[in-house]
Amino acid sequence: MDLHEFRKNAHQLVDRMADYLSEIESYPVKSKVSPGEILAGLPSLPPASAEPFQNIMHDFEKIIMPGITHWQHPSWHGYFTANNSFPSILAEMLTATLGAQCMSWMTSPAATELEQRMMEWLQNMYGLPDLFSGVIQDTASTATLCAMLSAREKYSDFKVNHSGLYHEKIFTVYCSAEAHSSVEKAVKIAGFGSQNLRKIAVNGNFAMIPEELERTIREDIRSGYVPLLVVAAFGTTGSTAIDPLEKITEIATRFKIWVHVDAAWAGTALILPENQHYSARMADVDSIVINPHKWMFTNFDCSAYFVKDREALIRTFEILPEYLKTPVDQRVNNYRDWGIQLGRRFRALKLWFVIRTFGVEGLRKKINDHITWAKELANEIEQHPGFELLAPADFAVVCFRYHPDSLDNEQELNRLNAALLEKINQTGKMFLSHTSLAGKYTLRFVVGQTNTEQKHVKQAWELIQQLTDDRL
Ligand code: PLP
Repeated sequence: MDLHEFRKNAHQLVDRMADYLSEIESYPVKSKVSPGEILAGLPSLPPASAEPFQNIMHDFEKIIMPGITHWQHPSWHGYFTANNSFPSILAEMLTATLGAQCMSWMTSPAATELEQRMMEWLQNMYGLPDLFSGVIQDTASTATLCAMLSAREKYSDFKVNHSGLYHEKIFTVYCSAEAHSSVEKAVKIAGFGSQNLRKIAVNGNFAMIPEELERTIREDIRSGYVPLLVVAAFGTTGSTAIDPLEKITEIATRFKIWVHVDAAWAGTALILPENQHYSARMADVDSIVINPHKWMFTNFDCSAYFVKDREALIRTFEILPEYLKTPVDQRVNNYRDWGIQLGRRFRALKLWFVIRTFGVEGLRKKINDHITWAKELANEIEQHPGFELLAPADFAVVCFRYHPDSLDNEQELNRLNAALLEKINQTGKMFLSHTSLAGKYTLRFVVGQTNTEQKHVKQAWELIQQLTDDRL
């Protein structure tokens, strides 16, 4: 492909992209293909000779598109959203075009300094105390791992990096029983062992019971373990429960334990002034992760990691072979030392485009709408005699189940709701996912896609009710 063809194809592609986004509601939200179907359409060997772009696009439409589940569909209500927006997509096009490798200031001064400024903007938008340094990580999973590794190094006086874990006592990590699986994954990768992760019991609202945390920590100390880090959830994956941050921080401070806040989803709601009392309470924590790639209209991946002890972070990851040394190293941020990867994408650009295009007020309006519509739905569910609300719906996620009056058998209710979920998703008109709350099969309805309107939420609720009229 030469420059002339690139220009021509790119123009056509942008038209295709705009057509896709304008027609997205005509696609079934969840792909209808079966496992192996896409693979069967792909040749087992690569082409020996060059193929024209038209042929590749033809196969994209024929083979790939049927296997796409449409996350940007306004009736996407599953998992958490991974929403995008026009400015974010345009920034990603520029990022791909520049192809810059942003490992150090010198390899991309603009990327480094824009990242620094964007993290300051986010800190301000979230109303966080001005105590943190920020860096963009690929995902919350990586950010949580970085917190664990930094805590490990800080408390071992950077000895584990040098000698391994062999001479250390056993570190223990704490999170609630509702914490995201990335915590357990990080515990394994950090070398602590999943048996040394303590999953603390939760209360009726699925938030950590701090008395249980303290009791477990004391027990661990008595048994010779070294409590290292507690992950407090600001918005659990199951039901957006908020762990009691002040109590957790107070306990952790007494025992000199690192507090990491996992606010991957609900953290975006901190841009609303009425939620910023939570941000003020984060003054005493050690690190926080919030994912603009979930709820802030910014293409996956983009995860904002804030850390108080920036030196501990850098000392954990810093490595300086001769070929990476530059004359300005003492005066700049070299973000390769702020995390695991050496090579880094230019992720700050899409944040800059998104924040400027929406403006903080525009972002607040959308997040506020999502929360309001989810609360309206929760209210409808609560009023309906055949449905049951299973958790508070404070952060745009509604947890509920179908519960006909006549039925009290929990096993049968679980089966019924699993069948209902399958039926909802089979329609292709909307997409929901599920979790288990207190042993109950729970349908999760997330309101967070960029183009979701109130009418989509209402239509979805109508559809759910209709589907329960038939046999399940
Ligand atoms: N933390 C919470 C609360 C989540 O819900 C998720 C994913 O949904 C994660 C962490 C992991 O996010 P990521 O995909 O950015 O690693």
